[in-house]
Amino acid sequence: MISLDGHQNAGPDGDADYHCPMTAALHILWPVALRSIGAMQRHKVLVRSQCRRCGALMRVDLDDMVARHGSSGSLIDVQERCRMVACDGAAFYLASPGYGGPWRTLLGDPGLAEGLANGVAPVTAETLLGPTAR
Ligand SMILES: [Zn+2]
Repeated sequence: MISLDGHQNAGPDGDADYHCPMTAALHILWPVALRSIGAMQRHKVLVRSQCRRCGALMRVDLDDMVARHGSSGSLIDVQERCRMVACDGAAFYLASPGYGGPWRTLLGDPGLAEGLANGVAPVTAETLLGPTAR
């Protein structure tokens, strides 16, 4: 399992977008495995989205994300409309190196990260159905 907490520079897999000046700051702050959707696929990173308003915690299919944003697209500091019916909240992304691993919020922008600590708790099927749901 790779670490997603590191601050290493470009790794041996050499992401094609590494020299893009617009994302230079991202490359200093984020590990290679999280910098693009394609890199997350290669490193088998698990991704979820969490709504800031209703708390809905959803699995994210990286194939869907590649179709929508391209493999060089990034989910860092990206928010999208919540997929829960009747919610108009904004959802952010989280990543984990694998099943059972820690989840890291993909928000680096202080303005976007603001309020997360006091935000709505994540809501899963277990929240809705109780612990017997598994
Ligand atoms: Zn929501």
